[in-house]
Amino acid sequence: MKEIISAKNIIKIYGEKSKLKVLDNVNLTVNEGDFVCIMGPSGSGKSTFLNVLSTVDTPTRGTIKFNDKNIFDMTEAHVAKLRYESIGFVFQDFNLIDSLTIRENIGVSLVLANVGKVEINKKTEDISKNLDIFEVLDKFPNECSGGQRQRAASARALITNPKLIVADEPTGNLDTTNSHQLLKIFQKRNEDDGTAILMVTHDSMIASYAKKLVFLRDGKIAEVLDRGDLTQKEFFYKIVDITSKESQNLFDVMG
Ligand code: ADP
Ligand code: MG
Repeated sequence: MKEIISAKNIIKIYGEKSKLKVLDNVNLTVNEGDFVCIMGPSGSGKSTFLNVLSTVDTPTRGTIKFNDKNIFDMTEAHVAKLRYESIGFVFQDFNLIDSLTIRENIGVSLVLANVGKVEINKKTEDISKNLDIFEVLDKFPNECSGGQRQRAASARALITNPKLIVADEPTGNLDTTNSHQLLKIFQKRNEDDGTAILMVTHDSMIASYAKKLVFLRDGKIAEVLDRGDLTQKEFFYKIVDITSKESQNLFDVMG
């Protein structure tokens, strides 16, 4: 499978004086068709890792390759273009623009890319039927439910057919039904088109949709779990096992 992003020996240190080492020599490769979930206790560096992997943030040390090219050999504008063309971001708080309708929110990146009006409308309507938000296209975000807003945010991320979806706690503001609906959408894209998914969650049930689990502890990769031939349910139980062992470790550390 073709490599999209590879991160080698990543170290991230915050602060001039206190020097908080948030990522401590982590490695990860994301290929086409991958579905990777990052888990770990609060403050373990999950968001930082996701931001560094998706070129939103830069590491203090280490190498990030995007499409096999070192991002430090590219101009910032080039990296921004790659990111814009290849990655669809889905955030926990949706990040929709309140003054735009759902239709306008979903199409915004195509407008910026100078795609014609007719084509934008067709693509927007197709994807919104798929995500069950067709009937709210001409409403504003504050007239929609949380689930509808999250699906609109996902539609906005998916409409450009990105090679990679990056999602930080995408179900954090959703109820169970809407959470599973969102993950099924990700899963379908992953299976049908080989779209790679890189996601952070603290929910073992949500993590069980992934094909690979990376567990962070204190900025280090503590465990990597491949789903292999396991069913989603079997994988879920393995994840629960690991998360409960990790919680046990935390208790031990606290004495
Ligand atoms: P997680 O997503 O796993 O909860 P984060 O990656 O958000 O963890 O944060 C890891 C650690 O880095 C935390 O201790 C957090 O306070 C710290 N941190 C995150 N962002 C910054 C920043 N911009 N400046 C300083 N410290 C930060
Ligand atoms: Mg976080």
